[in-house]
Amino acid sequence: PPPTIGSSLIPVINKLQDILASSGTELSDISVPQVAVVGSQSSGKSSVLEALVGRDFLPRGCDICTRRPLVLMLENRPPNSGDESSEWGEFRHLPGRRFYDFSQIRREIQAETEREAGCNKGVSESQIRLKIYSPNVLNMTLIDLPGITKVPVGDQPSDIEARIRKMLMAYITNENCIILAVSPANSDLATSDALQIAKLADPTGSRTVGVITKLDIMDRGTNACNFLLGRVVPLKLGYVGVVNRCQEDINKNRSIQEALAYEERFFHDHPVYNGVSDRCGIPQLANKLNQILEQHIRRDLPHLKAELNSRMRAVMKELQMYGKVVESKAEQGAILLDILRRYCDDFSAMVDGKSQDMSTK
Ligand code: GDP
Ligand code: MG
Repeated sequence: PPPTIGSSLIPVINKLQDILASSGTELSDISVPQVAVVGSQSSGKSSVLEALVGRDFLPRGCDICTRRPLVLMLENRPPNSGDESSEWGEFRHLPGRRFYDFSQIRREIQAETEREAGCNKGVSESQIRLKIYSPNVLNMTLIDLPGITKVPVGDQPSDIEARIRKMLMAYITNENCIILAVSPANSDLATSDALQIAKLADPTGSRTVGVITKLDIMDRGTNACNFLLGRVVPLKLGYVGVVNRCQEDINKNRSIQEALAYEERFFHDHPVYNGVSDRCGIPQLANKLNQILEQHIRRDLPHLKAELNSRMRAVMKELQMYGKVVESKAEQGAILLDILRRYCDDFSAMVDGKSQDMSTK
């Protein structure tokens, strides 16, 4: 199967987790990488996230679809534990209810969006939290965010743009957050809202990846090579160009697999992209993100070690509070016996006292 976000890291992390589990520490407590998408409305943010996860479950469309932040927590779990299926989703607002059907998840996201933000294009900053359990995911958090809009429509307040920008900044200023700045290839990169807000949150560009969507619908006679090579807006971590499903594909329920096959054929049929093939396609974007995630985890290892040491010191201190350190079974038995003996003594003293009390009456 083509790489998905985090896929190449799962074996490494599982091993690390096994080691940590023996010390009672969980990796997920300490390091959960985050990836958030930003960009203008309908630039293809939800489409990119979905393709990176390799499952169809997010509302997408030409209108405003993502109207509340969706915090998507991916949680790795081993397969075949006697479940109906090894992959499911669970919403925070519906605890205990497992969604095995991913199109059902999309419907619930839509319904829950409407519950909070109404049916008339309203936007809310209240999160929808969805957990996906699967053997094929890395423990991490993906955040799908509403797009930047300029003109209020429907129930949107007059300051909608400022509100959305503020909401986006609250997520992407987090130093732990990798920013996918999504810009469509059919408008000039120099006017990209995505790159502009990403630059505000990450001025050095150390955690911003540029994603250029809609390479398939560029003006005839143009191509995205200059964008991808960073000649228009340079970006330290670079760009990847992708082709997602168009609205017709969505209406016809084309699958992710078909979309990936179409994308591959597109790049194959457009020789202008031959020289930049390492910057083209969802699988390349997944690879690039996996490298960044690996560095992120690597950078976290010294911190993890310090955390383990401090937990160790705390446990040792607690142990000392219980008196002398005992290791062998025999010693433990002796101590238990001693505690029981003292308990019996205290107990009989109390009973004796009580009987004395009674005798004075
Ligand atoms: P978002 O608002 O940024 O989350 O964008 P969506 O993912 O909802 O996509 C908006 C619209 O653009 C949908 O109709 C998609 O089908 C379409 N779209 C997204 N990416 C591409 C692409 O690479 N090529 C084409 N042709 N259409 C795309
Ligand atoms: Mg969206």
